[in-house]
Amino acid sequence: MGVKWLSVGALLLAFVAGAAVAEATSLTQGSLYIGRTDSANQVWVGKRRIRVSDNGTFVMGFDRDAPLQQHYRLVFPDGREELKTLELAPREYRIQRIEGIAKRIMQPNSEDLVRIRAENARVRSARKQDLAHQFFAKPFIWPLTGPISGVYGSQRFYNGEPRRPHYGVDVAAPTGTRVVAPADAVITFAEPDLFFSGGTLIMDHGHGVSSSFLHLSRLLVKAGERVKQGQVVAEVGATGRVTGPHLDWRMNWFEQRIDPTLLVPPMSEVIAQERVER
Ligand SMILES: [Zn+2]
Repeated sequence: MGVKWLSVGALLLAFVAGAAVAEATSLTQGSLYIGRTDSANQVWVGKRRIRVSDNGTFVMGFDRDAPLQQHYRLVFPDGREELKTLELAPREYRIQRIEGIAKRIMQPNSEDLVRIRAENARVRSARKQDLAHQFFAKPFIWPLTGPISGVYGSQRFYNGEPRRPHYGVDVAAPTGTRVVAPADAVITFAEPDLFFSGGTLIMDHGHGVSSSFLHLSRLLVKAGERVKQGQVVAEVGATGRVTGPHLDWRMNWFEQRIDPTLLVPPMSEVIAQERVER
């Protein structure tokens, strides 16, 4: 993606007169865009041909710092092409300071590094999957309710040192609290003890959209299992690089990091609703 694709996009714009229409949407950095087209058409994002389902549904996601102008290309059965443009609203991200992280976690030794690389490769390959399911197209639910202790995109400082931004939403809850699948999914990764993320689950919602749960104390499902929205899949823990028990829920569209909170109602509304129902 990036500059290379943008210049190709500009060329296409010049050739396909009047075909590129900026669509007015409420998309932002970190959001997921679900589109519809004729199922006979191809959809390309940069050099990636993305899956179009039988009913014409396709999806793409935009990273934390994604360029505000995004393009995709429709290729019709007769070979004609049309460039589409999506405008993203910019986001502002918080700064979060975390102290008290163990030295071994801050400065992994060479053995740890070997392990971390191997784990990262396995996580990446789970996120590369492109399953035909369209579970992402239905509304998501929160995996649990509780105070939000970390938000998507915040710039993090661990023991004063700047580190990668935080990509998940953290919900604080005691160890052992049950967490449910936020949408139907196929479990593509289930490991009890990764170096940074501890007990880790990856749930695939189709077309490259996946949820990851981190720092779990207990996994209740296995890789390959099909789970339903609302099904208990794991328990909250404090495993990996954490300072206390919480669920870290992350979402991806392939390698692009998505903000899960854009797919669910505000936590305050869900908690208020729970009180009414009790
Ligand atoms: Zn987190």
